[in-house]
Parts: sequence; structure tokens; C-alpha cells
Amino acid sequence: MLLKELLSDYKQTRQALLAANFYNFETLKGITRAAALLERPVILQLSESSIDYMGLDMAVSMARSIIREYDINAWLHLDHGSSLELLQRCLDKGFDSVMIDASEKSFEENVKISSKAVRFAESYNANVEAELGYVAKLGQKQESGEYTKPDDAKRFVELTGVNALAVAIGTAHGFYKRKPVIRLDILNMISKETPAALVLHGGSGLSDEILKGAVINGINKINLATETKNTFMKKLKFLLTHTEEIDLRKVFPPAIDEVTDLIKKKMIIIKPIDV
Ligand SMILES: [Zn+2]
Repeated sequence: MLLKELLSDYKQTRQALLAANFYNFETLKGITRAAALLERPVILQLSESSIDYMGLDMAVSMARSIIREYDINAWLHLDHGSSLELLQRCLDKGFDSVMIDASEKSFEENVKISSKAVRFAESYNANVEAELGYVAKLGQKQESGEYTKPDDAKRFVELTGVNALAVAIGTAHGFYKRKPVIRLDILNMISKETPAALVLHGGSGLSDEILKGAVINGINKINLATETKNTFMKKLKFLLTHTEEIDLRKVFPPAIDEVTDLIKKKMIIIKPIDV
């Protein structure tokens, strides 16, 4: 099933899909194994810096191989694409979905660039995500008090034709320095105003209640990056300081297990297991 079709179904049925960033083979394995164990679909995301780190070919080949091996329903997505050139490179490699992030530009510029991305991705049948509003990036001020306006979201989706829209409802990238003020009421209004699937960036460190509330109020894709990195590295640091073992094949697996546990936990929060 095409990702844009699934997201559109999820919009109707008020469900959300977990979109997890991977950084290397180990985090990829941890994420996909969780999807296999719970038999849940998952979006595998790559940011530009992860593509630079692994190489586009290597990252895509690893992801495709492991999807086959675990026999899971998974899609490849470009997270925070900064240019149409990068989008093209990814789509040519078979990505199912791309994000064009012109959220720091003016509304008009954002519309212009995002519309181009939609037209461009059409022939690939790919899902296109854009962002409207201020979702603080790492190192930026987290509390802006700026939230996406429902009217703007409606107009933006009409003008661009994007399938998915990342909205600013009080979340930020990275971990939260202070308890964020998440406006589920605004989310609910945006959800009613637009046919696009809504995306939550900055899923790391949000409470279970907020995540559940976000899904109930119209979020269809939840991005998780920082928490995965942090979980993996914390365990790895602990292991390395408590062992003389130099066989990396023995040191890495418990850190991979931690990633699997984290992803399973998030998947269950988003959609509890039927008993
Ligand atoms: Zn993001």
C-alpha cells in the first residue's frame, strides 16, 4: 500500500503511525525488530546528516534488506529535506515519502517551494510532507508561543496539495528543557480544517498522555529521533564503562535491545494492543 493511501486511511480512522529515524545498522535493526515483534507498520526516516553519514545507497540498501528479512510493512521517508535536489536523489533511490522543510521561510515562499515538491513527487507517487509553523530545531529557542493557525493550515494544504503537514502545536526537537505547552485544542481545529494527514515533530520526551491525546486530536504520524539516539548511546556508554570486552558483536546487542524496547513501548502507546 502506498504510504499516502495509508496516511489518508489513518486520517479517517484517527490512527497514527510511528516514524522512527535510524542512524546506523544497529538502530535500524532495533526499530525494525520492534515492528516485526508487534506486527506493526513503521516509517523509517533518514535525515540529511544520516544520509551523509551512511551514504544514500548504503542506507537504502540496508533498510530494504532488513524490511525483507523481517517481512514488515515499512516505508522510507526523507526527514527535513532542505532542497528539491535532495528530494530528487531520494526519490530516484525509491523513497516512498519525502519532507520538504521550508518552514523557516515566509508563508508565500513555503507555499512556492512545497508546491514544487508536490508536483515533482507526483510522477513517483510519493507522499509529500511539508511543515507550517515554528517547531524549534536543535539549538533554537523552544518556547516561541507560536502555533500553526488552523486557517493558515487549510490555505496551505489547498495551495500546495501536500498529503502530510507537520504542525506547530508546542513541540520542539530534542529533549524538552521545560514542560512544553501542547495545544491539543489547536491541533483538533487544524485537523478538522484540512484533509492532509498531520505530523508531530518533536515526539521525544512527550508524556504518554500527550502522545495519546495527540492521536485522538488528529495526529497521524509521530516522529521519534532524539529518544532513539539517546537510548542507544546511554546503554552503550554504560556497557563500555563496565566491560573489558572488545568484541563489538557482544557489546552492541544489549543497546540494540534497548532501542527495540523503546520502539515497542511507543508503538503500544500510540495503539494499545487489543486483548
Ligand atoms: Zn522534525
